[in-house]
Amino acid sequence: MAGVIRRLDETVVNRIAAGEVIQRPANAVKELIENCLDAKSTNIQVTVKDGGLKLLQIQDNGTGIRREDMEIVCERFTTSKLQTFEDLSAIATYGFRGEALASVSHVAHVTITTKTADAKCAYRASYSDGKLKGPPKPCAGNQGTQILVEDLFYNVSTRRKALKSPADEYSRIVEVVSRYAIHNSGKSFSVKKQGETVADVRTLPNASVVDNIRGVFGNAVSRELIEVGCEDQKLAYKMKGYISNANYSVKKCILVLFINHRLVESSALKKAIETVYAAYLPKNMHPFLYLSLEIAPQNVDVNVHPTKHEVHFLHEDSVVESIQKHVESKLLGSNSSRTYFTQTLLPGLSVSGGSEVKSSSATAEPSERIYAHQMVRTDCRAQKLDAFLQPREKPPPDREAAGPSSREAQPGSVEMEETDDADMIEALAEQEAEVPKGDEGDNSVQRKRPRKEQQQQQQAEEDEDLTAAATPKRRVVKLTSIKELRAEITENTHKGLQEMLQNHSFVGCVNPQWTLVQHHTKLYLLNTTKLSQELFYQILIYDFGNFGVLRLSTPAPLYDLAMLALDSEESGWTEEDGPKEGLAQYIVDFLKNKTEMLGDYFSIEIDQEGNLTGLPLLLDKYTPVMEGLPMFILRLATEVNWDIEKECFRDFSKECSMFYSIRTRYILEAEPGEEQDAEVNSWRWKVEHVIFKAFRTLFSPPKSFSEDGTVLQIANLPDLYKVFERC
Ligand code: ADP
Ligand code: MG
Repeated sequence: MAGVIRRLDETVVNRIAAGEVIQRPANAVKELIENCLDAKSTNIQVTVKDGGLKLLQIQDNGTGIRREDMEIVCERFTTSKLQTFEDLSAIATYGFRGEALASVSHVAHVTITTKTADAKCAYRASYSDGKLKGPPKPCAGNQGTQILVEDLFYNVSTRRKALKSPADEYSRIVEVVSRYAIHNSGKSFSVKKQGETVADVRTLPNASVVDNIRGVFGNAVSRELIEVGCEDQKLAYKMKGYISNANYSVKKCILVLFINHRLVESSALKKAIETVYAAYLPKNMHPFLYLSLEIAPQNVDVNVHPTKHEVHFLHEDSVVESIQKHVESKLLGSNSSRTYFTQTLLPGLSVSGGSEVKSSSATAEPSERIYAHQMVRTDCRAQKLDAFLQPREKPPPDREAAGPSSREAQPGSVEMEETDDADMIEALAEQEAEVPKGDEGDNSVQRKRPRKEQQQQQQAEEDEDLTAAATPKRRVVKLTSIKELRAEITENTHKGLQEMLQNHSFVGCVNPQWTLVQHHTKLYLLNTTKLSQELFYQILIYDFGNFGVLRLSTPAPLYDLAMLALDSEESGWTEEDGPKEGLAQYIVDFLKNKTEMLGDYFSIEIDQEGNLTGLPLLLDKYTPVMEGLPMFILRLATEVNWDIEKECFRDFSKECSMFYSIRTRYILEAEPGEEQDAEVNSWRWKVEHVIFKAFRTLFSPPKSFSEDGTVLQIANLPDLYKVFERC
């Protein structure tokens, strides 16, 4: 009996078609990344849960989608990139079919949050089966687009069953992201699992192609690369890239191939190149290649199936042969450099957790085995710190706008509005006079205008801007004194040191005071105490008036703090100074008098009863060691020149930064059983993940640090090879 032929329901047809286009999460990621790149994004962050089956989130900072277009973006054949069929032949953007978003929305729940440059706010809308579920809702957001894909294949159980291993799907996603990252150096990419702070691949906006190859494939390959590049007018192609030399080989050939900026595969090209390398590499070993090919668009069949990565192009054989010749000539000419091991352990230095330098002159025992974790890390993936970095848009000198806690905006989160644009500063400068130098009666720094009035004004400013309603706004500081202090920091920056700190590889903490980092081939010993103190000083000056508050769990009576400090040897109290009780009371009264200013400018909160209740939040996830608090309070009363505005802010910031800095004494007092505390509380964690992370972006090291022993170069690896070669 013949079966009855029924017309399939349209949604089912769409679902099947979509399943063809998007066969697995990595396909979707690729399409979505290409959309981000089409939208001129420079920062693309991918977050994944359960191999992308539960959640895929792609956040970019591109042009965004106009609100009017949100209704139809997920319908099939809607695209902003192609008008006529003829355009296909000259297509420069990745997408052109208007099919990706539609496909995804047929097999997953899609939510788009997007903001264009001239929109007042962002909009969010959810889609299913290509259709908008409800009108887009206004919301807070930065320029760019976030595509959230949830429960991929929730309605295609066969597909879901075929993809059993989230781990496998995840590694395919990482592969796609990292390859696009290599190809798009100059733009930053990251991919991580949801809930993880550490990205599995992260590239920085200022990184080169080789940096990115190093980050993804490791140092072993990145140090053995030959740059290649050729073109042929007749064949209408251009090629450039990096290929491994004869020193390097892997079990499986890695060919990262882009044709017209699209990640593709070409078995013809792969085969041709493998035959060249066969003559140079050990049997069954293969090369690494990253090649970017540009072929006249009309010669490439761009209309390939999205999952069909294999491409073909006109004159394929001739082009492949031409590339093959070029690769061969480069390999021959590379005079196969010696293989050097750049991973080495410095004599006497162990960088494994907990141990300290025993003697700097001790030599390594030749018989001692060196474990991988003791080696100088040169591979970005092994570099935990690197993975923590959020690429920042702005280099340190321009950083006035973003507060420390706002700098790390999570995908989709509300970020503080940047307000450092010159016009606004000018406008506000006219509105608010500067804080006067102290007046006769009380020689201390006072606020000129009542706090309330200022808040009202701020409110008014915020109301002017619609976006601000949903976006916390940063106060603009117009005090000449602060501007001067900022300028001093900038002018005094040691550019070389700054570059080193921005691009270092974290090696390990020797002890609270000393940290080892590597930069290029050099190993440095850094004085963490001095560097962190300067870091906090700079944060205090740059974020002046804009700190969050660290609330103390129990209010700390200033009187008790002052007494504690006076009891300590460090205070240098002698009987000549008069009774401690009197001094302590004086300190309480003195600081209580300054409550308003301390609170407003520095987030130091003091209650009516003279208890300290809050301290400034200078860096996310960082609290100072409270053992230093009594001396800080005492020194605020004795070491700060409260009479002259600029001196006052400088002195205060110096004292406060001393309290916040990583100091051996307090740490050892506070943590007798080393590493007992939860990881986040341990100083090692703070040094690596908070302090040194901040050095990468927020820091302008002063010139003096290169001369006063704060930064010491203790080894240059090439010199070490020379030593070893003679042995
Ligand atoms: P195509 O890329 O082929 O045009 P898609 O379905 O991938 O088709 O995307 C449809 C449209 O949605 C695009 O043409 C573009 O206008 C818009 N779009 C998609 N993703 C983004 C993004 N990340 N940023 C800006 N616009 C986007
Ligand atoms: Mg597309």
